[in-house]
Amino acid sequence: MSVASPLQLYIHIPYCVHKCHYCDFNSHERSEPAWEDYQQALIAELKQWAASPMFAGRKLQTIFIGGGTPSLAPPSLIKTILDAASLYCGIDDDAEISMEANPGTADAENFRAYKLAGVNRLSIGVQSFDSTELRWLERIHGSDDAVKAYHIARQAGFTNINLDLMYGLPKQSLSEWLCSLHKAIDLGPEHLSCYQLTVEPHTKLASRHAQSPYVLPNDELALNMFYETRQQLSDASYQAYEISNFSKANLKCRHNDGYWLYHDYIGIGAGAAGKWDHSDQGISRYSNIRTPERYIKTVMQQSHAMNSEESLNCEQAAAEAFWIGLRRTKGINRPAFKQRFGIDAWQQFSKKLQTWQAHDQLIVIDDSIHLSNEGIALADEIAASVL
Ligand code: SF4
Repeated sequence: MSVASPLQLYIHIPYCVHKCHYCDFNSHERSEPAWEDYQQALIAELKQWAASPMFAGRKLQTIFIGGGTPSLAPPSLIKTILDAASLYCGIDDDAEISMEANPGTADAENFRAYKLAGVNRLSIGVQSFDSTELRWLERIHGSDDAVKAYHIARQAGFTNINLDLMYGLPKQSLSEWLCSLHKAIDLGPEHLSCYQLTVEPHTKLASRHAQSPYVLPNDELALNMFYETRQQLSDASYQAYEISNFSKANLKCRHNDGYWLYHDYIGIGAGAAGKWDHSDQGISRYSNIRTPERYIKTVMQQSHAMNSEESLNCEQAAAEAFWIGLRRTKGINRPAFKQRFGIDAWQQFSKKLQTWQAHDQLIVIDDSIHLSNEGIALADEIAASVL
């Protein structure tokens, strides 16, 4: 068994002012979230996981506070949870501590307090700089709010900011998308995440789309948007380190990169998930009850709120790690993979992948297996072939 991977903590804040119709995250509209109860439950759950044999004595290398809308949370809650993480797990001096913020809830005093509490990276959910698009997405903010939120974050002292953007909206042209992208680039964030809109099952958008289909981009336009995004960001000195994530040098999101590297993580909060490696090279993972009220009640009764658990054996875990790892521009590090799973990645998966290699969509060299520029748009199909 190799040395334990860096440990990460994910904290989920499930509340939102309004449920956007495309959203399939575990987010819940509540006019008065039960902050005190939720805080108590988070701490009780964290204490339990921190003391468990697979996580005890391992300092946190990254923390990510996601949602929902974490920027709705009182700064005292963020401080209390981060203090508890320090007390129960320990936080590495160099830890990356990210938090998501919605431009519609940006508040200068709160942003300063989040920073003082220890948050050192802010991820702002801009999605678009076009007011019509923002209305269609049902976001609670306008395009000016996103710019304001960015400046408030800078004034609060954040030197590491991500902006989330979305393309492929109904009837959106390539030039309309690039207009939003360039407004984001002009602000000068350290990091950008650019995702194509997908119609996720069980969302309001899915039922509306089924009743009266929206005009979504055809394959050719979607591909143009994808490659043009990469080109424009490369021209602006952003490195594509993952399919949808771009950063200035050495400023990738270490927390998300840890997921793609198949690191261990504790997840606390409604709907959060955790994962750890086994000594037999398989893994276990859990996910929590999703409704905030049921989550709180269950944690207060039994110190955790798991509603599902799963274990994978070594072979299954290796396939999953390979599948996820291909999302990284650097792909799979073959020596590290061999050290982790005791098998050579190419020997293990070559039969399933040789067609992609023969078409130069997958590059196999001594040290790594990664997608070519042509292969990157087919990442999901290529990765799924190993499962
Ligand atoms: S703000 Fe984010 S998490 Fe909340 S409903 Fe909208 S997309 Fe989902």
